[in-house]
Amino acid sequence: MNSHKFYDDEEKLDFSDVLIVPGMAKNGASSSKPKFSVRSRNDVKLLRSVHHTKVSKDGDVIDKSFTAIPIIAANMDGVGTLKMAQVMKRNGMMTCLNKSLSLEDLDKCESQSHAFLTVGISADDLDKIRNFSDKFHKICIDVPNAYIGDIVQFVSDVRRIVSTTHFIMVGNIVTGGQAMSLYMAGANCVKVGIGSGSVCTTRLKTGVGFPQLSAILEVGAMAHHINENFDRKLYICSDGGCTNPGDIAKAFAAGADFVMLGGMLAGHDEGGGEIVNKYQESPDRMPHPNGQGWVPVIDEKKYVRFYGMSSKTANDKHSGGLKGYRAAEGKEVDVPYRGSVQDTIDDILGGLRSACTYVLAENLVQFYKNSKFIKVNNQVNTVFGQG
Ligand code: 5GP
Repeated sequence: MNSHKFYDDEEKLDFSDVLIVPGMAKNGASSSKPKFSVRSRNDVKLLRSVHHTKVSKDGDVIDKSFTAIPIIAANMDGVGTLKMAQVMKRNGMMTCLNKSLSLEDLDKCESQSHAFLTVGISADDLDKIRNFSDKFHKICIDVPNAYIGDIVQFVSDVRRIVSTTHFIMVGNIVTGGQAMSLYMAGANCVKVGIGSGSVCTTRLKTGVGFPQLSAILEVGAMAHHINENFDRKLYICSDGGCTNPGDIAKAFAAGADFVMLGGMLAGHDEGGGEIVNKYQESPDRMPHPNGQGWVPVIDEKKYVRFYGMSSKTANDKHSGGLKGYRAAEGKEVDVPYRGSVQDTIDDILGGLRSACTYVLAENLVQFYKNSKFIKVNNQVNTVFGQG
């Protein structure tokens, strides 16, 4: 496209626009050495060590790291709760705790080894970090738009408060330039994704966004440059747009070090949302109670209300409403009630392990190296529905 109004010439892609090619490592098309020891899903290790600080002090190198399955429950109502954090931790996974948790709740939290203290960018948030920096060594600075004026300064303020040993994640962004600015300010990880979330309406309200797979590739190129040339690493967390375990696999294959999930973890007991019953006419018929003719069978279905953190509901609940100058950039939906989150977690981890076996990868680092995409017009056969 020959116009200065376009960012670049490439078409940008979402998860549904691509598939991962099986067996590329075996065919020798991948640059990494093939490993043929992956015989089953059992051979795949999803736990990953994240080395984020190397400080040379008087000749000493401090290597600070943590180990987890790099999938993170989003800091959303109905997802980033203490109960969710418990179950995620039990499975080796992580949680960004809701910003709205009270100080008492944060005190009560016992999952801190696998949880991020999530904050906004106010002076109160700096106090919260000061108060909890001994307990939480992972901080998530979360704003819908991490291009706003104060954010870089805020990240350096946070870095000054916490020691170099704390892991700071900040977002959301979708471009490499801002990733570099946030990294230079002290961030260890940038959260990538604007407009791709399941209950997000930003693209419709503002016309702003970036297809999620391409956003990961875009910021990934900058992370790659940083990781080649600087001592300290920059990690990437893909945030938003995963609708099934295959999308999570594609995010890792594209270069995400972490993947954050909102909608996929909504509707479960651990989210604590209110369960509502809805009654719907089913296609089945039963005899009329007075014996004359047939009447439709009414099915009862359980749902849980789920909403975006920029929706009117969330603004009313946590920020004193839209206040006349904010637009709601999130929607409210009723998601089917799904019971305990453990079954969903098993489904996600099973899918991811299986994805690794298709490209002969023993772990997620190898999975990234061995994966190649193809662009597709149709990724699934929908004759019996989407699922
Ligand atoms: P999901 O996994 O549901 O597709 O996406 C989750 C992500 O959507 C969250 O981590 C957050 O970044 C984003 N998100 C949550 N609520 C809202 C909202 O109300 N508006 C927008 N624009 N994004 C949201």
